[in-house]
Amino acid sequence: MNSFLTKVNQTRVYNDPLIDEIYQDFLRISGFNIEGQDSTIKLVEFPYVFDWRSEYIGESNLDNLNDLMGLAVGMWDDSKIEVYINHSDWTLLDQKSKRKLLYHELLHDCFNLEHVDSSCDIMFKRLNSCINNNLDDNLSRILKLALHNDDKKNIENITKMITEEMLLSGYSGKGTIIYLDGGKYAGEFKEGLFDGKGTYSWASGSKYIGEWKDNASNGQGTYTYFHGDKYIGEWKDSKKNGYGAYTYANGDKYIGAYKMNKIHGQGSFTFANGDNYLGEFKNDKRDGYGVYTNAKGDKYEGEWRNGKQNSQ
Ligand SMILES: [Zn+2]
Repeated sequence: MNSFLTKVNQTRVYNDPLIDEIYQDFLRISGFNIEGQDSTIKLVEFPYVFDWRSEYIGESNLDNLNDLMGLAVGMWDDSKIEVYINHSDWTLLDQKSKRKLLYHELLHDCFNLEHVDSSCDIMFKRLNSCINNNLDDNLSRILKLALHNDDKKNIENITKMITEEMLLSGYSGKGTIIYLDGGKYAGEFKEGLFDGKGTYSWASGSKYIGEWKDNASNGQGTYTYFHGDKYIGEWKDSKKNGYGAYTYANGDKYIGAYKMNKIHGQGSFTFANGDNYLGEFKNDKRDGYGVYTNAKGDKYEGEWRNGKQNSQ
């Protein structure tokens, strides 16, 4: 049945202490608890003798070719961690790419994370094109974003009603408060303020689910706008700040850095028509070094200033 697995388990297992070193780093940064799970990470020679891709991943898209360097067999199976890395690919990779590859497979396997479209993300399917400045930093952010979704369920069943008087007298704990303008907060309070995990729904239909501090969104959170846009990412004092992914109702998508509600820093902006800009931004505009690729594949690579190509 599992011909790929059978074959792969009959082949020689190569030894590389770097595998365990990277694995231990992954466990430490992610906080993943392997208790009760069998864990196997093997460096082997992949038998490319039949079309195992369609059998195991259900994909025959050649875009995924880079992903063939590794395979997370334990994905969707929480009783085990089972990752295979192709030895002949491994030996060609530099230190950073090895880490990228193993993190990628472990994120599939341990956290059941799927591929994403942005090359800024370690779960980008074409691993060789994935750009990460600081891998460990990137890893912990992605994990926070992914795991944050699990918190939602715990927040939405809070039935204890909180009054303004309770807040004034410094209420701490869980509860729901409803305002006269139709706004509603359900979540955790500390000393009379929104603090911890909580959901705020506005009468307009907009909604924020995530972390709070001092009555403001601070930390990880998802904002769904009434007009159809959605932002998943980091917040500071109710402003998008840090790293996040923004999906526009018109089909545009951005993933990357924010500062004080503006696109600022490294990021990837993909327009609904397929054009993409990958590079630096300042104050919501392309600014600095970047590559603009249109849907046909034409490229402009170079410096940008205030949203425009900087012709010298
Ligand atoms: Zn993958």
